[in-house]
Amino acid sequence: MTAAIERLVILGGGTAGWMTAAALSRLLPPDIKIRLVESEQIGTVGVGEATIPHLRQFNTLLGIDENAFVQATGATYKLAIEFNGWGDAGSRYLHPFSGFGDDLNGIDFHHYFLRARKHRPDLTLDDFSLASWAARSGRFGPPRPEFPTGYGYAFHLDAGRYARFLRDYAEARGVERIEGRVAQVEQDPDSGHIRRLHLESGQAVEGQLFVDCSGFRALLIGDTLGVGYQSWRHWLPCNRAVALGSPAMAEPPPYTRVTASGAGWIWRIPLQHRTGNGHVYSSDHLSDEQACEQLRIAIGKPAITEPNFIRFEPGYRARSWDKNCVAVGLSSGFLEPLESTSIYLIQMAILKLVTYFPNARCEGPGQDAFNRWMALEYGRVRDFLILHYHANRRPEAFWQQCREMTIPDELARKLALFKEAAAVEHYEHGLFGLPSWLAVYLGQGVTPDGCDPRVAGHPPHKVAAHLQGMADTLKRCAESLPPHAEAVVRGVTGSPAPAELSLYGGRYGR
Ligand SMILES: Cc1cc2nc3c(=O)[nH]c(=O)nc-3n(C[C@H](O)[C@H](O)[C@H](O)COP(=O)(O)OP(=O)(O)OC[C@H]3O[C@@H](n4cnc5c(N)ncnc54)[C@H](O)[C@@H]3O)c2cc1C
Repeated sequence: MTAAIERLVILGGGTAGWMTAAALSRLLPPDIKIRLVESEQIGTVGVGEATIPHLRQFNTLLGIDENAFVQATGATYKLAIEFNGWGDAGSRYLHPFSGFGDDLNGIDFHHYFLRARKHRPDLTLDDFSLASWAARSGRFGPPRPEFPTGYGYAFHLDAGRYARFLRDYAEARGVERIEGRVAQVEQDPDSGHIRRLHLESGQAVEGQLFVDCSGFRALLIGDTLGVGYQSWRHWLPCNRAVALGSPAMAEPPPYTRVTASGAGWIWRIPLQHRTGNGHVYSSDHLSDEQACEQLRIAIGKPAITEPNFIRFEPGYRARSWDKNCVAVGLSSGFLEPLESTSIYLIQMAILKLVTYFPNARCEGPGQDAFNRWMALEYGRVRDFLILHYHANRRPEAFWQQCREMTIPDELARKLALFKEAAAVEHYEHGLFGLPSWLAVYLGQGVTPDGCDPRVAGHPPHKVAAHLQGMADTLKRCAESLPPHAEAVVRGVTGSPAPAELSLYGGRYGR
């Protein structure tokens, strides 16, 4: 029988490194020695503030108290992302963490909605999402059993504080932190496996399994093992970002705002102690100076931090587990931050590493299963992101190019199906479900030619009246929630994270 792993080394102390250290210290047998090497001199990427509801499951798995976490990380709650100017310059829609309406007679709700809209063009999809109503009215509370529909929620958090919070957690569970810069990586001359990290201080850190959380540097998976990186820039055109902090908002909204710009988009993320802002853009269309200037204008008040300029190549590593090295976080890939999916991908990689945890040989079917799973996750997120760029009616050259680009086959098929029959294929695995696709399709003006023929038997004015009743109920439920700012200060009770990974609120949402 092959021996078990006894010594595991994590390189990197950003969000990925400390999430990995915290989770492994909780989930692996205590006799596995975990050490984390990080360099304060190098620092972290310094961004990554918006999350999706899956983080609640991660925190629950670690036994973290949600209210303590919210206070420690300066977090606010997040119910949705508001997209401004993505379809055309004046368009505005929400992508909420909830489903829309109720399915009737086994037919997806949106077919009734599309029929009713013929009679009532003023109806919007947001009218049928409780999370959207709450987001628009600046209210927040966890879903209640008496509500007719559920929703998920996530957080806007200070990434630096979250890493610090998890560091305390992991160190309390025996993870040893080593400060220092890796100068050289020693490999086994026969197998090529990584054996030791040699630090500038002269210290050598030996391990059997290495988790590469070194960020964009990808020191182990890329520089040392030479695993290639697949660029998706031809589909995801942005490759630069600049981030700036501004003062905290008096009434922080419970949603992230992303506004399309001439050659990219601008985020606004409200935290308790400041507001995070950033401009993601294409270097083919905008200089760093122009991007920063546009961001300052969008913020409209003096920044409280220096600009943080970041370069990236959208894409991923098809083999993020190679030999005895598993890449987690930016070292394994980065698509772009529009749908706040990176921390989710970190979480999935950690959970899959635990599921397929290797023996000391480190190579085998678990490695292949891990790589297949991560490729599927990256691919599905990628296609959903591409849709945001492709389905636009904006006049600028950047957006025209996005509209005219050839999109991946699977996305093209999905889009054609929706245009023809308003049908959304369900994925068996992968992050985004029907409500997410629907929000973006309809929010960005992708109008289907037809819908399920069975709804034609219902007169549109009757359907519209039924739907109006539904929207009124959801609005009333949202208005019964406390103001978001109050919920942040008081904390919330009584909403355990759903056991299954779900964007839409588990038990109550779809
Ligand atoms: C513009 C932008 C916006 C983003 N927004 C979001 C968001 O809203 N939501 C979201 O989920 N994600 C977001 N992300 C992604 C998110 O920031 C990252 O997924 C997350 O921070 C994890 O980063 P990391 O830990 O992999 O890398 P890093 O934070 O870069 O950490 C790398 C670590 O490796 C260490 N290191 C590197 N080289 C060495 C060496 N030679 N010796 C010792 N130590 C070394 C560094 O010191 C550091 O500790 C965003 C990313 C970008 C670029």
